[in-house]
Parts: sequence; C-alpha cells; structure tokens
Amino acid sequence: MNNLVPLNLVESLENLALETPNSQPTYALISVHGDPTAEIGKEGAGGQNIYVRELGLALAKRGCLVDMFTRREHPNQEEIVELAPGCRTIRLTAGPAKFISRNELFEHLPEFVEAWLNFRKCSGRNYALIHSNYWLSGWVGLQLKSQLGLPQVHTYHSIGAVKYRDEQNPPQMAVIRHHVEKAILEQTDCVISTSPQEVDDLRQFISQQGRIKIIPCGINTEHFGSISQKIARQQLGISSDSQIIMYVGRFDHRKGIETLVKACAFLSDSFTLYLVGGSREDGADFQEQQRIQALVKKLGLAAVTVFTGRISQALLPAYYAAGDVCVVPSYYEPFGLVAIEAMAAGTPVIASNVGGLQHTVVHGKTGLLVPPGNHHALARAIGNLLANPSLRQFYGNAAHNWVQSRFSAEAVTNQIYELYQSLTLSMFVQEIIQTNNLTPNVEKQIQTLLKSKALKPSEIKALEKLVDSFSNGTVQWVNN
Ligand code: UDP
Repeated sequence: MNNLVPLNLVESLENLALETPNSQPTYALISVHGDPTAEIGKEGAGGQNIYVRELGLALAKRGCLVDMFTRREHPNQEEIVELAPGCRTIRLTAGPAKFISRNELFEHLPEFVEAWLNFRKCSGRNYALIHSNYWLSGWVGLQLKSQLGLPQVHTYHSIGAVKYRDEQNPPQMAVIRHHVEKAILEQTDCVISTSPQEVDDLRQFISQQGRIKIIPCGINTEHFGSISQKIARQQLGISSDSQIIMYVGRFDHRKGIETLVKACAFLSDSFTLYLVGGSREDGADFQEQQRIQALVKKLGLAAVTVFTGRISQALLPAYYAAGDVCVVPSYYEPFGLVAIEAMAAGTPVIASNVGGLQHTVVHGKTGLLVPPGNHHALARAIGNLLANPSLRQFYGNAAHNWVQSRFSAEAVTNQIYELYQSLTLSMFVQEIIQTNNLTPNVEKQIQTLLKSKALKPSEIKALEKLVDSFSNGTVQWVNN
C-alpha cells in the first residue's frame, strides 16, 4: 500500500527552503533580572547581562531582529533602548520600578508575563523563539511557551541545587527554584549548557529528562585582546616592574575573594593586589566588600591592595592586560567570563578547579587550576608564576590563542543561531504535519525523526526529499 503524503506538505517544505534565507528571524531573549544595558560589576549585574547583550548584538549583526526583555528597575529608565540596528532592550514594568533582589522577584513574574504579552500585541512583533536566562526568566518562558506554543531555549547561568549544596540556611526560595529548574529542563525544547560540568550537575541534581546542548559563553575577543601590557600599565599609571595580581568580578561570597586575600598574606615577594568590581550600598555585595576590606586590613595588606570600584567594559581590557596573573578563586562558578576575558588579554589565569573553570582554563597550558578554598595552594601557584616571567609569557600566549579559537562571540553565536534555526524549522514542519491529514504511520515516523534531535537546515532538506518521494510514489511505506 502506498501512503501518499499530500502534495501541499511538500510544497510548503519547498517554500520554506526558499523563504528562509530572505526572512528576518525575530527572537525574544528574556533576562528578567539581568538588564543587558546595566552597569556591570554591581550586585545582580555580571556575566548574565553581558551574555545576553553580546548574544543579542551578534545575532543582530547577522541580520536577525532581537528584543531583549528585562524588568524596569527605575522610574526614569527608558522603556526601549536600541543598542544597534535590529537589537533592542525592552524594559517591562513588573512590580515597583526599583531594584529587587533575585530572591524576591518570583512574585512579580506573572506581571512580567502579562506585560510581555501586552507588548507583543501592541508592537505586532511575531517572535519565532524565546531564549530565557536564569530560572526566573525560565519560568516566564514556560508560561509564554504554553500560551503561544513557541519553541524555548534556556540558559541556566547558575543552578540552585549546586549553589546551595553546602549552605546551612538556603533561602526559602530555594525549594521553588528547584521545582522550576526541573520543569525548565524537562519542558523546554533545548537547554544550553555552557560547560560539560554544568551538564553533569543538571543530570545529577535536576533531571535525567530533557535535551541539553553544550555551547560555551563567547566574548568580544578583539576588545579584550586590544592592548599590550606595556601600554596598559602606562594608561593606568602602574610601573613596568611591579608584580600585579588581578581579581575582577562581583563581591559575592561564592567568588572566594577571601581565599585570594589570605593567599596574598603568604607571598614573600612584593606585589600589588587589584580588586576590580563595584557594589551598591543597599546590596549584599556591599557587605561582602566591607568584610573583605576588614580582612585586608587585619592581614596587613592595606598598603598593597587597590579597590578600584566598578570598571566599565571599555576600560577593563587595560586592567586585564596590566596584570601578571588574573586569579579567579570562586567556590562555585557555572562558567566564569572573567577567566576567558583575562586569557583573551594574554594574561595567565589561576582559577579554582570548579565548574566551568575546569574547562576554560587549561592547567599547565593557559594557567593553573587549584583546589577551591585552599589559600596555601593558591599562594604557591601565585608565587610560582610571579617568580617565573618566561612561564607567564608562555601561558599568556597560549591563553590568548586558546580563547580566540574557542570562545569568540562569532563562533559561539553561530552555534546558537544554528540551534534556533533547527528548532524553529522543526516547529514549522510540526505545524505542517498537524494541518495535513497524514496517515498515522507516516506522521509517526516524521514525529519520531523530529523528536530524535533538532534538525539542521540540511536535514530538513533531506526530510523534504523523503516526503517528496512518498508523494510521487518512488518510495513506499512498509507497514509492519
Ligand atoms: N565586570 C565589569 N566590571 C567590573 C567587574 C566585572 O564589567 O568592575 C564584568 C566582567 O567583565 C565579566 C562580568 O562582569 O564579564 C562577570 O562575569 P562572570 O561570569 O565572571 O561572573 P558573574 O558575575 O556572572 O558571576
């Protein structure tokens, strides 16, 4: 028996192949608590903001329309900010227009969903896909997916179960977060994990179900590699013979700054420690900064420690390049943009042997990995590198090349774009299947194919051919 597939299915697939290159794909990136245009380096503003902004900009550069949705945190903030042609930040009102910590944002999410739907209706934009970031936005994405049937991609940025694993008193929100993180993994179309370690964590602590694809974070490698150490030191007024230890990042307990400061107290040679990062006076990061300042004083390091405050992205390359070594002493780090930014600048990195850092820093090639929370081991590693300029040079060069080849924004965005396309194309084929009366057997086979993995454009073409063959009778379905 020949199971004929209706001709319009084949035509639709052919039209799809013709239409796709010319149409402008429109994507919604959701980052409720991480405004992509926020000042980075303060509480709540870190890697996620940069990840979303760089992704949005790189997608727009390749011709996509991208709206990045975040929550309004101040009454004077503009609702819509155009960052580049095709790439906008949209600030939605959900809860009072003021800073609200992540642990208190959940109750305002239904309002965010409503505001998003309203914006979509008023603007008339048809989004092809939603990419949510962090569990709060993941919850928003799940609501939108269930209401509109859009494909959803999710990036965790951090996993509650891992973050709170060793904490005596996790916040009450941790239980809700866990349920939401599980629903996200099981229900979204694809989760992007930024490192193999994150995949292990998701499988171990969250769920065995759900699809995960590893795509690392990308950075603007040209920007971070744009300045030599000599020029950077001239710019910053640092003498060429100083030994500089750099820390860049938020003041957060999990960043392990305490371990770094304690390690520095054991160094014998002279050095200057730069702690680069800001805090907001009403935030928990301010308390952490004060705690670290007190420790610096107590250990007699005040004269050799510089608290720079928040440094803009424009000036950061000079800080990275000025360092002899950049230390990332985190206790937990899902990815760790700072490590790759420093390496892009040609500065060797000493990082804790945790999370994504294990995969971005190559021990004995681009820097060193040390056990987290062990200030003796960290002191030995820093001491060795400071005492060995040719090893620093060797690691620094390798680090620069490694990041160029693996973590450039373009390379990473290509992978994400390909994933988006495969999901929207397979959604399109699903729609065609639903609107055509296929015999149950043919439909089942196509569904299985679509579910087995996200299809690449070339595979969609193969599917087209297959369907074509059914319709003209050159291939016949064998029932068994
Ligand atoms: N950062 C910055 N200015 C500062 C300190 C940090 O712009 O004064 C940026 C830094 O360039 C990096 C981000 O903050 O892109 C921190 O990202 P990471 O993934 O290392 O840590 P997270 O903050 O996400 O935990």
